Amino acid sequence: MSFSSLGLSAPILTAVTDKGYQTPSPIQAQAIPAVLSGKDVMAAAQTGTGKTAGFTLPLLELLSQGPRARNKQVRALVLTPTRELAAQVAESVTTYGKHLPLRSAVVFGGVGIGPQISRLQRGVDILVATPGRLLDLYQQQALSFSQLEILVLDEADRMLDMGFIHDIKKILAILPPKRQNLMFSATFSDEIRTLAKGLVHNPVEVSVTPRNSTANTVAQLICPVDKSKKSAALVKLIQQGDWQQVLVFSRTKHGANRLAKALDAKGITAAAIHGNKSQGARTKALANFKSGEIRVLVATDIAARGLDIDQLPQVVNFDLPNVPEDYVHRIGRTGRAGADGKAISLVSDEEAKLLADIERLIGKNLPRTLVEGLEPSHTLPETDLTPKRHGQHKGPRNPKPKSNSQRSSNRSGNGQGSDKAGQPRRGDQAQGNKEGQGRRRTGASTGTSKPTSEGQQAQNQAQNQGKQEHRDGNAPARRRRRRRPSQGAPKPATN
Ligand code: ADP
Ligand code: MG
Repeated sequence: MSFSSLGLSAPILTAVTDKGYQTPSPIQAQAIPAVLSGKDVMAAAQTGTGKTAGFTLPLLELLSQGPRARNKQVRALVLTPTRELAAQVAESVTTYGKHLPLRSAVVFGGVGIGPQISRLQRGVDILVATPGRLLDLYQQQALSFSQLEILVLDEADRMLDMGFIHDIKKILAILPPKRQNLMFSATFSDEIRTLAKGLVHNPVEVSVTPRNSTANTVAQLICPVDKSKKSAALVKLIQQGDWQQVLVFSRTKHGANRLAKALDAKGITAAAIHGNKSQGARTKALANFKSGEIRVLVATDIAARGLDIDQLPQVVNFDLPNVPEDYVHRIGRTGRAGADGKAISLVSDEEAKLLADIERLIGKNLPRTLVEGLEPSHTLPETDLTPKRHGQHKGPRNPKPKSNSQRSSNRSGNGQGSDKAGQPRRGDQAQGNKEGQGRRRTGASTGTSKPTSEGQQAQNQAQNQGKQEHRDGNAPARRRRRRRPSQGAPKPATN
């Protein structure tokens, strides 16, 4: 399978080659022809599988064929849940569209609206936007949708999680009814299907991975450790493994700040990124992390959502997430699009139940290893994976050491545990990982795309303005995906 067999024209194929892609990822191979057919498309594939190019490439192809956008008009609207994602998608549009005469723009909150209004004055073929700012611009009559051909909802599941449903409905109401609709999401949850009912018509459905299976090329490992020793354990792992680029997840903003300080104090450069940080601070921390200036980025779930950090070798869960699905999203930060990665979770005995929920969700017991000198005072119970009625989460049922077959229920485990922290057994990785022994290099990010005018402009703009409190990307109440409809009110956002 090659890009040239998908129906894309030469200017786009050249840009793809320039970017260094050789073969389309599975979701791209399915989504690109579907989008080119002009039908509505619903696509689901886990994080890191290349969904952005999956809609951007055919979008550019379709738009290159029609009449250019007139003043204030938008021909294709791409909605994303966060500013960072908007900037990343816009950068992809610029990269893949660099040989086409199309105009694009990106708009999000937290930065001045004036330059965005001027940019829209002459009309744009593609507008990438976060919902709140888009509505503001519409109210100020900075844009019009009478020429709109295509609507894309990127990371649709995240949009719902972050409480954007009302904004999305308002936006749908102002778009012309006759248009092509594309929905891209990590999963096809029930909520996504409900949203889809009012949005897509006879869609082509494409999906490449079953829900909640964890990325194939990610080696996962659990380090049982006492809560009070987690910082020390992390420092030790980073030093022993000589990790140069680590994304660390913290459950709380406060915890993220504390941990970044503690690492800095140990001579490990670190920055925290979360919803209380200004847009400027977040953009700067991300840029420094990508360039290798800082080794550790400590992030909360919302801040890290959807961030594309090329070939991230190492992810650490300093705390386990409250919602097991978030574990899958978190470790999707590493091992992206075929690169291999490692995900290590520091788990204290208070988190035994969270771990059990995660292991049940992904359908396997994760291998464990102890950090030398920081062994926990309590043993973590093993999770019993045999199906049982919902809600019954009991302690250890199976006192025997787990068998190989149990361990490798999902993949071809080789049955060998890891002997050393930071070196998970290879057998836990995908069979199909043909890279063999080749460890990814861990220096400054390798394949970071060259900043392009548009994306760079957006990032600079974000950097120059330190303002933060705005709807976009800071949805006040994040609606957690509830596991049972009968459960009570959604949890307040911790993030
Ligand atoms: P998703 O939206 O599914 O989470 P992205 O679109 O952000 O994933 O892509 C993840 C990473 O994979 C990016 O770094 C992107 O440059 C890279 N990528 C996308 N498509 C390909 C491809 N065909 N070949 C190699 N790398 C790719
Ligand atoms: Mg994406």
